Amino acid sequence: MLTLQVESGIFLRDIRELFAEFDPEELGEQMHAFIRELYPICRSITGEGVRETLRRMQQLVPLEIREVPSGTPVFDWVVPNEWNIRDAYVKSGTGKRIIDFQKSNLHVVSYSVPFRGKLRLSELMQHLHSLPDRPDWIPYRTSYYKESWGFCLAHRELLQLVDEEYEVCIDSTLQPGSLTYGEYVIPGSSEVEVLISTHICHPSLCNDNLSGIVVAMQWANHLRQLANRRYTYRFLFVPGTIGAITWLAHNESHAMQRIRHGLVLSGVGDARGLSYKKSRRGTAEIDRILVHLLRHSEEDHAILDFSPYGYDERQYCSPGFNLAVGRLSRSIHGTFPQYHTSADNLDFVEPRALERALRICLMVTRTVESNRTMINTNPRCEPQLGRRGLYRAIGGQADSGAAEMAMLWVLNLSDGANSLLDIAERANMPFAAVEKAAHVLEQHGLLVEKADGYST
Ligand code: ZN
Repeated sequence: MLTLQVESGIFLRDIRELFAEFDPEELGEQMHAFIRELYPICRSITGEGVRETLRRMQQLVPLEIREVPSGTPVFDWVVPNEWNIRDAYVKSGTGKRIIDFQKSNLHVVSYSVPFRGKLRLSELMQHLHSLPDRPDWIPYRTSYYKESWGFCLAHRELLQLVDEEYEVCIDSTLQPGSLTYGEYVIPGSSEVEVLISTHICHPSLCNDNLSGIVVAMQWANHLRQLANRRYTYRFLFVPGTIGAITWLAHNESHAMQRIRHGLVLSGVGDARGLSYKKSRRGTAEIDRILVHLLRHSEEDHAILDFSPYGYDERQYCSPGFNLAVGRLSRSIHGTFPQYHTSADNLDFVEPRALERALRICLMVTRTVESNRTMINTNPRCEPQLGRRGLYRAIGGQADSGAAEMAMLWVLNLSDGANSLLDIAERANMPFAAVEKAAHVLEQHGLLVEKADGYST
Protein backbone atom coordinates (compact mmCIF):
# COMPACT_ATOMS: atom_id res chain seq x y z
CA MET A 1 0.00 0.00 0.00
CA LEU A 2 1.20 3.50 -0.77
CA THR A 3 2.01 5.81 2.12
CA LEU A 4 1.10 9.31 1.16
CA GLN A 5 1.51 12.77 2.57
CA VAL A 6 -1.52 14.90 3.11
CA GLU A 7 -0.51 18.17 1.52
CA SER A 8 -2.06 20.45 -1.07
CA GLY A 9 -1.17 19.38 -4.58
CA ILE A 10 0.58 16.18 -3.53
CA PHE A 11 -2.46 14.10 -4.35
CA LEU A 12 -1.85 14.57 -8.03
CA ARG A 13 1.54 12.96 -7.78
CA ASP A 14 0.08 10.24 -5.67
CA ILE A 15 -2.34 9.21 -8.31
CA ARG A 16 0.44 9.28 -10.87
CA GLU A 17 2.31 6.84 -8.69
CA LEU A 18 -0.75 4.66 -8.70
CA PHE A 19 -0.72 4.54 -12.46
CA ALA A 20 3.01 3.82 -12.41
CA GLU A 21 2.32 0.76 -10.28
CA PHE A 22 -0.50 -0.31 -12.53
CA ASP A 23 0.20 -3.78 -13.93
CA PRO A 24 -2.37 -4.07 -16.73
CA GLU A 25 -2.03 -7.78 -17.35
CA GLU A 26 -2.20 -8.75 -13.72
CA LEU A 27 -5.16 -6.47 -13.00
CA GLY A 28 -7.07 -7.67 -16.04
CA GLU A 29 -6.48 -11.27 -15.06
CA GLN A 30 -7.49 -10.62 -11.42
CA MET A 31 -10.76 -9.08 -12.54
CA HIS A 32 -11.48 -11.93 -14.93
CA ALA A 33 -10.70 -14.44 -12.18
CA PHE A 34 -13.24 -12.74 -9.91
CA ILE A 35 -15.83 -12.91 -12.68
CA ARG A 36 -15.14 -16.66 -12.91
CA GLU A 37 -15.70 -16.96 -9.16
CA LEU A 38 -19.03 -15.11 -9.20
CA TYR A 39 -20.30 -16.55 -12.48
CA PRO A 40 -22.02 -19.71 -11.14
CA ILE A 41 -24.05 -17.90 -8.45
CA CYS A 42 -27.78 -17.59 -9.12
CA ARG A 43 -28.44 -13.91 -8.48
CA SER A 44 -31.73 -12.11 -8.80
CA ILE A 45 -33.13 -8.83 -7.49
CA THR A 46 -33.38 -10.38 -4.01
CA GLY A 47 -32.27 -13.57 -2.31
CA GLU A 48 -29.26 -15.59 -1.21
CA GLY A 49 -27.47 -15.27 -4.55
CA VAL A 50 -27.06 -11.53 -4.06
CA ARG A 51 -25.99 -12.00 -0.42
CA GLU A 52 -23.44 -14.64 -1.38
CA THR A 53 -22.09 -12.36 -4.11
CA LEU A 54 -21.75 -9.43 -1.71
CA ARG A 55 -20.10 -11.63 0.92
CA ARG A 56 -17.48 -12.71 -1.60
CA MET A 57 -16.95 -9.09 -2.57
CA GLN A 58 -16.34 -8.27 1.09
CA GLN A 59 -13.18 -10.34 0.93
CA LEU A 60 -11.73 -7.66 -1.33
CA VAL A 61 -13.45 -4.49 -0.13
CA PRO A 62 -15.09 -3.99 3.30
CA LEU A 63 -18.49 -3.03 1.94
CA GLU A 64 -21.64 -2.90 4.07
CA ILE A 65 -24.40 -5.35 3.27
CA ARG A 66 -27.78 -3.69 3.81
CA GLU A 67 -31.21 -5.31 4.01
CA VAL A 68 -34.54 -3.60 3.33
CA PRO A 69 -37.66 -5.60 4.30
CA SER A 70 -40.14 -6.79 1.69
CA GLY A 71 -43.17 -4.55 1.60
CA THR A 72 -41.24 -1.34 2.26
CA PRO A 73 -42.69 1.40 0.08
CA VAL A 74 -40.03 3.15 -2.01
CA PHE A 75 -41.50 6.05 -3.98
CA ASP A 76 -44.03 4.52 -6.39
CA TRP A 77 -42.70 0.99 -5.82
CA VAL A 78 -42.70 -1.60 -3.06
CA VAL A 79 -39.76 -3.81 -2.12
CA PRO A 80 -40.84 -7.22 -3.42
CA ASN A 81 -40.92 -10.56 -1.71
CA GLU A 82 -37.62 -12.37 -1.55
CA TRP A 83 -36.98 -15.09 -4.10
CA ASN A 84 -34.79 -18.11 -3.51
CA ILE A 85 -34.34 -21.27 -5.50
CA ARG A 86 -32.74 -24.61 -4.70
CA ASP A 87 -33.54 -26.72 -7.71
CA ALA A 88 -35.66 -26.86 -10.86
CA TYR A 89 -36.05 -29.33 -13.67
CA VAL A 90 -38.24 -30.79 -16.37
CA LYS A 91 -38.08 -34.58 -16.54
CA SER A 92 -39.08 -36.61 -19.57
CA GLY A 93 -41.23 -39.75 -19.44
CA THR A 94 -38.08 -41.82 -18.80
CA GLY A 95 -37.21 -39.75 -15.73
CA LYS A 96 -34.27 -37.96 -17.36
CA ARG A 97 -33.74 -34.27 -16.55
CA ILE A 98 -34.02 -32.66 -19.94
CA ILE A 99 -33.97 -29.12 -18.54
CA ASP A 100 -31.81 -28.83 -15.45
CA PHE A 101 -31.26 -25.75 -13.28
CA GLN A 102 -28.15 -27.45 -11.87
CA LYS A 103 -26.49 -27.19 -15.29
CA SER A 104 -27.29 -23.51 -15.81
CA ASN A 105 -29.26 -21.11 -13.65
CA LEU A 106 -30.43 -19.40 -16.85
CA HIS A 107 -32.74 -22.37 -17.41
CA VAL A 108 -35.26 -20.98 -14.91
CA VAL A 109 -37.14 -17.73 -15.41
CA SER A 110 -35.93 -15.57 -12.55
CA TYR A 111 -38.61 -15.11 -9.87
CA SER A 112 -40.48 -18.24 -10.96
CA VAL A 113 -43.05 -19.16 -8.31
CA PRO A 114 -42.84 -22.68 -6.86
CA PHE A 115 -44.49 -25.32 -9.02
CA ARG A 116 -44.78 -29.08 -9.14
CA GLY A 117 -46.88 -30.95 -11.63
CA LYS A 118 -47.21 -33.20 -14.65
CA LEU A 119 -47.85 -31.49 -17.94
CA ARG A 120 -48.36 -32.51 -21.55
CA LEU A 121 -46.09 -30.84 -24.08
CA SER A 122 -48.72 -28.35 -25.23
CA GLU A 123 -49.15 -27.09 -21.66
CA LEU A 124 -45.42 -27.08 -20.97
CA MET A 125 -44.73 -25.11 -24.16
CA GLN A 126 -46.61 -22.13 -22.73
CA HIS A 127 -43.88 -21.89 -20.08
CA LEU A 128 -40.84 -22.37 -22.34
CA HIS A 129 -38.66 -19.62 -23.83
CA SER A 130 -36.05 -20.05 -26.56
CA LEU A 131 -34.35 -18.06 -29.31
CA PRO A 132 -35.21 -19.46 -32.76
CA ASP A 133 -32.60 -17.26 -34.45
CA ARG A 134 -29.87 -18.32 -31.97
CA PRO A 135 -30.75 -21.99 -31.57
CA ASP A 136 -27.79 -22.92 -29.34
CA TRP A 137 -28.15 -20.17 -26.76
CA ILE A 138 -30.28 -20.12 -23.61
CA PRO A 139 -32.15 -16.84 -23.16
CA TYR A 140 -32.27 -15.00 -19.84
CA ARG A 141 -35.80 -14.13 -18.75
CA THR A 142 -37.29 -12.62 -15.60
CA SER A 143 -40.76 -12.25 -14.17
CA TYR A 144 -40.21 -9.98 -11.19
CA TYR A 145 -43.50 -8.21 -11.01
CA LYS A 146 -45.93 -10.82 -12.36
CA GLU A 147 -46.28 -14.15 -10.57
CA SER A 148 -45.54 -16.91 -13.06
CA TRP A 149 -43.03 -19.64 -13.73
CA GLY A 150 -41.04 -20.71 -16.75
CA PHE A 151 -37.99 -22.36 -18.23
CA CYS A 152 -35.49 -21.16 -20.83
CA LEU A 153 -33.62 -23.49 -23.15
CA ALA A 154 -31.76 -23.68 -26.42
CA HIS A 155 -34.17 -23.70 -29.33
CA ARG A 156 -32.43 -26.76 -30.76
CA GLU A 157 -33.37 -28.67 -27.59
CA LEU A 158 -36.90 -27.34 -27.58
CA LEU A 159 -37.41 -28.73 -31.08
CA GLN A 160 -36.50 -32.20 -29.83
CA LEU A 161 -39.31 -32.32 -27.26
CA VAL A 162 -41.93 -34.93 -28.06
CA ASP A 163 -45.54 -35.07 -27.00
CA GLU A 164 -45.48 -36.92 -23.73
CA GLU A 165 -46.07 -36.19 -20.08
CA TYR A 166 -43.37 -34.17 -18.35
CA GLU A 167 -42.63 -33.88 -14.67
CA VAL A 168 -42.00 -30.25 -13.78
CA CYS A 169 -40.45 -29.02 -10.56
CA ILE A 170 -39.53 -25.52 -9.48
CA ASP A 171 -38.27 -25.74 -5.91
CA SER A 172 -38.31 -22.04 -5.16
CA THR A 173 -39.69 -19.76 -2.49
CA LEU A 174 -41.20 -16.34 -2.93
CA GLN A 175 -42.05 -14.89 0.45
CA PRO A 176 -41.44 -11.90 2.71
CA GLY A 177 -37.75 -11.38 3.34
CA SER A 178 -35.64 -8.48 2.20
CA LEU A 179 -33.87 -6.76 -0.62
CA THR A 180 -30.11 -6.83 -0.21
CA TYR A 181 -27.57 -4.35 -1.53
CA GLY A 182 -23.96 -3.41 -0.93
CA GLU A 183 -22.64 0.03 -0.09
CA TYR A 184 -19.08 1.13 0.35
CA VAL A 185 -18.10 4.67 1.23
CA ILE A 186 -14.53 5.94 0.99
CA PRO A 187 -14.40 9.28 2.78
CA GLY A 188 -12.52 12.26 1.42
CA SER A 189 -11.74 15.67 2.90
CA SER A 190 -15.06 16.92 1.53
CA GLU A 191 -18.48 15.44 2.13
CA VAL A 192 -19.29 16.10 -1.51
CA GLU A 193 -19.55 12.78 -3.26
CA VAL A 194 -18.80 10.84 -6.40
CA LEU A 195 -21.37 8.06 -6.83
CA ILE A 196 -20.45 4.84 -8.60
CA SER A 197 -23.32 2.42 -9.11
CA THR A 198 -23.57 -0.98 -10.69
CA HIS A 199 -26.31 -3.59 -10.72
CA ILE A 200 -25.80 -7.01 -9.17
CA CYS A 201 -29.00 -8.86 -10.02
CA HIS A 202 -28.06 -10.96 -13.03
CA PRO A 203 -27.29 -14.67 -12.69
CA SER A 204 -24.68 -16.41 -14.90
CA LEU A 205 -24.09 -13.51 -17.27
CA CYS A 206 -20.66 -11.96 -17.53
CA ASN A 207 -20.66 -8.68 -19.37
CA ASP A 208 -24.07 -7.77 -18.00
CA ASN A 209 -23.18 -7.31 -15.23
CA LEU A 210 -20.26 -9.09 -13.58
CA SER A 211 -17.94 -6.84 -15.57
CA GLY A 212 -19.37 -3.73 -13.90
CA ILE A 213 -19.05 -5.34 -10.48
CA VAL A 214 -15.39 -6.29 -10.82
CA VAL A 215 -14.31 -2.98 -12.37
CA ALA A 216 -16.13 -1.04 -9.63
CA MET A 217 -14.49 -3.29 -7.03
CA GLN A 218 -11.03 -2.61 -8.39
CA TRP A 219 -11.77 1.08 -8.67
CA ALA A 220 -12.75 1.11 -4.99
CA ASN A 221 -9.70 -0.93 -4.13
CA HIS A 222 -7.42 1.62 -5.78
CA LEU A 223 -9.21 4.61 -4.28
CA ARG A 224 -8.95 3.37 -0.75
CA GLN A 225 -5.18 3.26 -1.11
CA LEU A 226 -5.09 6.98 -1.85
CA ALA A 227 -4.68 9.43 0.96
CA ASN A 228 -5.61 13.07 0.45
CA ARG A 229 -8.82 12.42 -1.41
CA ARG A 230 -10.93 15.50 -1.89
CA TYR A 231 -14.17 13.76 -2.73
CA THR A 232 -16.01 11.12 -0.82
CA TYR A 233 -16.65 8.09 -3.03
CA ARG A 234 -19.82 6.08 -2.61
CA PHE A 235 -20.04 2.71 -4.34
CA LEU A 236 -23.47 1.12 -4.67
CA PHE A 237 -23.93 -2.51 -5.66
CA VAL A 238 -27.68 -2.70 -6.10
CA PRO A 239 -30.26 -4.88 -7.80
CA GLY A 240 -31.23 -3.12 -11.02
CA THR A 241 -34.09 -0.61 -10.89
CA ILE A 242 -35.62 -1.57 -7.54
CA GLY A 243 -32.25 -1.35 -5.75
CA ALA A 244 -31.45 2.11 -7.08
CA ILE A 245 -35.00 3.26 -6.33
CA THR A 246 -34.73 1.86 -2.80
CA TRP A 247 -31.43 3.61 -2.15
CA LEU A 248 -32.71 6.92 -3.51
CA ALA A 249 -35.92 6.66 -1.47
CA HIS A 250 -33.89 6.17 1.72
CA ASN A 251 -31.26 8.76 0.89
CA GLU A 252 -33.26 11.40 -0.89
CA SER A 253 -31.90 14.58 0.69
CA HIS A 254 -28.43 13.10 0.97
CA ALA A 255 -28.38 12.35 -2.74
CA MET A 256 -29.65 15.80 -3.65
CA GLN A 257 -27.18 17.63 -1.43
CA ARG A 258 -24.02 15.59 -1.65
CA ILE A 259 -23.68 13.86 -5.01
CA ARG A 260 -21.70 16.02 -7.40
CA HIS A 261 -20.63 13.47 -9.99
CA GLY A 262 -21.76 9.95 -10.72
CA LEU A 263 -21.22 7.04 -13.01
CA VAL A 264 -23.15 3.86 -13.67
CA LEU A 265 -20.89 1.01 -14.77
CA SER A 266 -22.35 -1.78 -16.86
CA GLY A 267 -21.17 -4.02 -19.67
CA VAL A 268 -17.54 -2.89 -19.64
CA GLY A 269 -15.86 -6.23 -20.37
CA ASP A 270 -16.50 -7.11 -24.00
CA ALA A 271 -14.25 -6.45 -26.97
CA ARG A 272 -16.06 -3.37 -28.30
CA GLY A 273 -14.95 0.20 -27.71
CA LEU A 274 -16.08 2.20 -24.71
CA SER A 275 -19.28 4.18 -24.81
CA TYR A 276 -20.26 7.03 -22.55
CA LYS A 277 -23.89 7.96 -22.13
CA LYS A 278 -24.28 11.50 -20.90
CA SER A 279 -26.31 12.44 -17.87
CA ARG A 280 -29.70 14.04 -18.35
CA ARG A 281 -28.01 17.40 -17.81
CA GLY A 282 -25.72 16.73 -20.75
CA THR A 283 -23.12 19.36 -19.84
CA ALA A 284 -22.33 18.34 -16.27
CA GLU A 285 -18.67 18.20 -15.32
CA ILE A 286 -18.77 14.39 -15.37
CA ASP A 287 -20.07 14.55 -18.95
CA ARG A 288 -17.32 16.91 -20.00
CA ILE A 289 -14.70 14.81 -18.23
CA LEU A 290 -15.72 11.54 -19.89
CA VAL A 291 -15.99 13.12 -23.32
CA HIS A 292 -12.58 14.70 -22.84
CA LEU A 293 -10.88 11.56 -21.52
CA LEU A 294 -12.28 9.33 -24.24
CA ARG A 295 -11.41 11.80 -26.98
CA HIS A 296 -7.82 11.94 -25.75
CA SER A 297 -7.54 8.20 -25.13
CA GLU A 298 -6.48 5.55 -27.58
CA GLU A 299 -9.82 3.80 -27.15
CA ASP A 300 -12.40 3.38 -29.83
CA HIS A 301 -15.34 5.12 -28.29
CA ALA A 302 -18.81 6.50 -28.75
CA ILE A 303 -20.57 9.35 -26.96
CA LEU A 304 -24.31 8.94 -26.50
CA ASP A 305 -26.83 11.53 -25.48
CA PHE A 306 -29.08 10.82 -22.53
CA SER A 307 -32.26 8.84 -23.05
CA PRO A 308 -34.69 7.65 -20.37
CA TYR A 309 -33.87 3.98 -20.98
CA GLY A 310 -30.92 1.80 -20.01
CA TYR A 311 -29.65 0.97 -16.52
CA ASP A 312 -29.92 2.78 -13.21
CA GLU A 313 -29.00 6.14 -14.70
CA ARG A 314 -32.75 6.16 -15.41
CA GLN A 315 -33.41 6.51 -11.69
CA TYR A 316 -30.52 8.82 -10.79
CA CYS A 317 -31.47 11.06 -13.74
CA SER A 318 -35.23 11.00 -13.08
CA PRO A 319 -36.45 14.60 -13.05
CA GLY A 320 -36.93 14.78 -9.27
CA PHE A 321 -33.22 14.01 -8.80
CA ASN A 322 -31.57 14.99 -12.09
CA LEU A 323 -28.19 13.96 -10.71
CA ALA A 324 -25.05 14.38 -12.78
CA VAL A 325 -24.77 10.64 -13.38
CA GLY A 326 -23.63 9.24 -16.72
CA ARG A 327 -22.96 5.68 -17.77
CA LEU A 328 -19.82 3.93 -18.92
CA SER A 329 -20.30 0.79 -21.02
CA ARG A 330 -18.86 -0.99 -24.00
CA SER A 331 -21.48 -2.77 -26.14
CA ILE A 332 -24.86 -1.21 -25.49
CA HIS A 333 -27.55 -3.34 -23.82
CA GLY A 334 -29.93 -4.89 -26.29
CA THR A 335 -27.78 -4.14 -29.33
CA PHE A 336 -25.47 -7.16 -29.36
CA PRO A 337 -26.66 -10.70 -29.97
CA GLN A 338 -25.13 -12.16 -26.81
CA TYR A 339 -27.13 -9.72 -24.63
CA HIS A 340 -29.24 -11.57 -22.03
CA THR A 341 -28.27 -14.99 -23.33
CA SER A 342 -25.96 -17.80 -22.26
CA ALA A 343 -23.45 -16.49 -24.84
CA ASP A 344 -22.68 -13.60 -22.48
CA ASN A 345 -20.26 -16.00 -20.88
CA LEU A 346 -16.68 -16.15 -19.62
CA ASP A 347 -15.30 -15.99 -23.15
CA PHE A 348 -17.30 -12.88 -23.98
CA VAL A 349 -15.42 -10.76 -21.43
CA GLU A 350 -11.73 -10.07 -21.82
CA PRO A 351 -9.13 -9.18 -19.19
CA ARG A 352 -7.74 -6.42 -21.35
CA ALA A 353 -11.16 -4.82 -21.86
CA LEU A 354 -11.75 -4.84 -18.10
CA GLU A 355 -8.37 -3.30 -17.45
CA ARG A 356 -8.86 -0.56 -20.04
CA ALA A 357 -12.22 0.32 -18.51
CA LEU A 358 -10.64 0.49 -15.05
CA ARG A 359 -7.95 2.78 -16.41
CA ILE A 360 -10.56 5.24 -17.67
CA CYS A 361 -12.29 5.08 -14.27
CA LEU A 362 -9.05 5.95 -12.50
CA MET A 363 -8.51 8.80 -14.92
CA VAL A 364 -11.98 10.04 -14.01
CA THR A 365 -10.82 10.12 -10.40
CA ARG A 366 -7.65 11.91 -11.31
CA THR A 367 -9.59 14.52 -13.26
CA VAL A 368 -12.39 15.21 -10.78
CA GLU A 369 -9.84 15.37 -7.98
CA SER A 370 -7.51 17.78 -9.71
CA ASN A 371 -9.82 19.95 -11.76
CA ARG A 372 -9.50 23.37 -10.11
CA THR A 373 -9.24 27.00 -11.07
CA MET A 374 -5.88 28.73 -10.84
CA ILE A 375 -4.82 32.36 -11.04
CA ASN A 376 -1.76 33.59 -12.89
CA THR A 377 0.29 35.67 -10.42
CA ASN A 378 2.12 37.42 -13.25
CA PRO A 379 -0.60 38.27 -15.76
CA ARG A 380 0.95 41.35 -17.35
CA CYS A 381 2.81 39.89 -20.33
CA GLU A 382 4.36 36.47 -20.15
CA PRO A 383 6.58 35.59 -17.23
CA GLN A 384 10.14 34.74 -18.20
CA LEU A 385 10.10 30.98 -18.12
CA GLY A 386 13.73 30.50 -19.20
CA ARG A 387 15.05 32.40 -16.20
CA ARG A 388 13.16 30.02 -13.96
CA GLY A 389 14.40 26.96 -15.82
CA LEU A 390 10.90 26.13 -16.99
CA TYR A 391 11.65 25.64 -20.63
CA ARG A 392 12.22 21.91 -20.98
CA ALA A 393 11.58 21.58 -17.25
CA ILE A 394 8.97 18.94 -17.73
CA GLY A 395 8.74 16.04 -20.08
CA GLY A 396 11.45 14.58 -22.27
CA GLN A 397 13.00 16.50 -25.14
CA ALA A 398 10.56 14.99 -27.60
CA ASP A 399 7.46 16.36 -25.94
CA SER A 400 8.99 19.49 -24.48
CA GLY A 401 7.22 21.57 -27.13
CA ALA A 402 3.87 20.23 -26.01
CA ALA A 403 4.77 20.75 -22.36
CA GLU A 404 5.70 24.37 -23.06
CA MET A 405 2.46 24.89 -24.94
CA ALA A 406 0.58 23.51 -21.98
CA MET A 407 2.33 26.00 -19.69
CA LEU A 408 1.52 28.88 -22.04
CA TRP A 409 -2.13 27.85 -22.20
CA VAL A 410 -2.38 27.50 -18.43
CA LEU A 411 -0.73 30.87 -17.82
CA ASN A 412 -2.86 32.61 -20.42
CA LEU A 413 -6.22 31.23 -19.36
CA SER A 414 -5.69 31.13 -15.58
CA ASP A 415 -7.53 34.39 -15.02
CA GLY A 416 -9.88 32.95 -12.44
CA ALA A 417 -12.60 32.17 -14.95
CA ASN A 418 -11.30 28.89 -16.40
CA SER A 419 -10.79 25.58 -14.68
CA LEU A 420 -7.97 23.30 -15.76
CA LEU A 421 -10.54 21.22 -17.64
CA ASP A 422 -11.74 24.35 -19.46
CA ILE A 423 -8.13 25.03 -20.42
CA ALA A 424 -7.50 21.45 -21.58
CA GLU A 425 -10.57 21.60 -23.79
CA ARG A 426 -9.75 24.98 -25.28
CA ALA A 427 -6.12 23.99 -25.86
CA ASN A 428 -7.21 20.60 -27.18
CA MET A 429 -4.65 18.94 -24.95
CA PRO A 430 -5.02 15.98 -22.59
CA PHE A 431 -6.09 17.06 -19.12
CA ALA A 432 -3.09 15.26 -17.63
CA ALA A 433 -0.67 17.48 -19.59
CA VAL A 434 -2.45 20.66 -18.52
CA GLU A 435 -2.63 19.55 -14.91
CA LYS A 436 1.07 18.65 -14.96
CA ALA A 437 1.97 22.09 -16.34
CA ALA A 438 -0.18 23.76 -13.68
CA HIS A 439 1.53 21.76 -10.97
CA VAL A 440 4.99 22.90 -12.11
CA LEU A 441 3.90 26.53 -12.48
CA GLU A 442 2.38 26.45 -9.01
CA GLN A 443 5.62 25.15 -7.57
CA HIS A 444 7.41 28.14 -9.13
CA GLY A 445 4.94 30.64 -7.71
CA LEU A 446 3.53 31.58 -11.09
CA LEU A 447 0.08 30.21 -10.27
CA VAL A 448 -1.96 30.19 -7.12
CA GLU A 449 -5.15 28.34 -6.53
CA LYS A 450 -8.18 30.57 -6.67
CA ALA A 451 -9.96 30.82 -3.33
CA ASP A 452 -12.57 28.12 -3.53
CA GLY A 453 -10.96 27.08 -6.79
CA TYR A 454 -12.22 23.54 -6.50
CA SER A 455 -15.70 22.99 -7.71
CA THR A 456 -16.52 21.23 -4.42
ZN1 ZN B 1 -29.38 -6.91 -18.09
